[in-house]
Amino acid sequence: MNTNKIYKILAVDDAKDTLMLLDFDLAEEGYQVFTAESGELALDVLEELAIDLILLDMYMPGISGLDMLQKLKSHSEFMNIPVIMLSASDNEDQIVAALEFGADDYVTKPYIPKVLLARIRTSLRLLEKTLELESLAKTDFLTGINNRGSFEDLANRAISQAKRTQFPLVMAMFDIDFFKAVNDNHGHDSGDKVLINFANIMCDCFRDYDIIGRVGGEEFAVFMPDTTAENAFIACERFRLMIEGNEIKLDNAIDEIISVTVSIGLSLGQGTELNLEELFKKSDISLYQAKNNGRNQIKLYEEAVSAAVDCHVEEIQDSSEDKYPGIDFQIGVGNVLGDEDLFDEILVMFYEDHSKDSEKIQLAINSEDQAACKHLVHTLKGVSCSVGAMKLFEVTKALDIAINLEEKTNYQRLYEPVASEILKVLGGIEAILKDKL
Ligand code: GH3
Ligand code: MG
Ligand code: MG
Repeated sequence: MNTNKIYKILAVDDAKDTLMLLDFDLAEEGYQVFTAESGELALDVLEELAIDLILLDMYMPGISGLDMLQKLKSHSEFMNIPVIMLSASDNEDQIVAALEFGADDYVTKPYIPKVLLARIRTSLRLLEKTLELESLAKTDFLTGINNRGSFEDLANRAISQAKRTQFPLVMAMFDIDFFKAVNDNHGHDSGDKVLINFANIMCDCFRDYDIIGRVGGEEFAVFMPDTTAENAFIACERFRLMIEGNEIKLDNAIDEIISVTVSIGLSLGQGTELNLEELFKKSDISLYQAKNNGRNQIKLYEEAVSAAVDCHVEEIQDSSEDKYPGIDFQIGVGNVLGDEDLFDEILVMFYEDHSKDSEKIQLAINSEDQAACKHLVHTLKGVSCSVGAMKLFEVTKALDIAINLEEKTNYQRLYEPVASEILKVLGGIEAILKDKL
């Protein structure tokens, strides 16, 4: 129990003398006491104040204690407030009914102050434990910010609100550049220190009502309600510069100082069709574009790209319309600022570097070489995005996620679409650029 906190207790009883007694006994013990003579008045108090515990009389005119209890327990805002029923009756069926409706305890009147106070303390102790557990379940243990589950809950709530207001919002994904090298060169503890430092700067840099979360190992997200792409870009650029200029002193023998950089992908959402999964997907695509474009930069998801990704299924079914099967020419060329000759050269390089990927990945899966699987698939995921092979990017990303989570039983199943997509992309490059290969 939090000894510094002054708990607010609401006593509900139609008998004024009982309320006076309760007020006296509880105030004496250091509680802040509020009273209501009916269920209706109690609801008014609950709307106004953050009450910590309710003492509720069973028999009252108007809303009875049991009805009131049911109302409270089905109300999302009040359902977690502990309720101790007070009644002159010691009818066993009534006690059982109250406990079944969710009462935390039952005390008969006339109450013995010492006993009532002890029961209140027990209920408040339990409440604190529950709140502590709830908060732990929502918090990332390393950085203290929202974990992925909590981030998604809060973002979904903000999305429901944005659907009503029609205000724009922005989802930003952050991935620390070359973070693996920090672990490899300075040790895992130093890596952890960088992550904690990164999260702290994030909390200082973004607004209080932005939702900040750690959504992967070294991946973070910020959900910005009521924000235009322009303003999100300004905030993220400020953050990017803060990270770049931030010096982290490692706790090693030589007091080494290091810095990291971050790549950021943004996607904009507005309207009634908003959906968190879609925003994650779009921000992820722009993040990989930021990575492939040289890292330490921000990319905003463009609607032209969105259209291309949304219809990639049809494009694959009717690949005759694509210059290169499996590759969205517009995205690929866009990634090299419209330079088509350079894009051809990049496709040749892609062909040379990745023509054996399918066999290599299969071999790594068969021989259970986790490190090789991880390296091959992670690299392929990145380059497929940069050449505009969006379907290959999607299927490779699914395999990459499974590998990071070490879901070994899924490797083969997720590998199959990767293999067929590589075949299609390589086949197309081979057919069109045969002179250059
Ligand atoms: P890129 O610029 O492409 O993002 O390269 P990267 O090295 O950051 O990317 P990659 O995804 O390969 O590496 C992420 C690393 O993050 C690998 C993993 O071991 C490390 N990591 C994940 N969670 C933690 C953690 O909690 N603590 C530490 N120290 N490292 C972590
Ligand atoms: Mg990463
Ligand atoms: Mg990284």
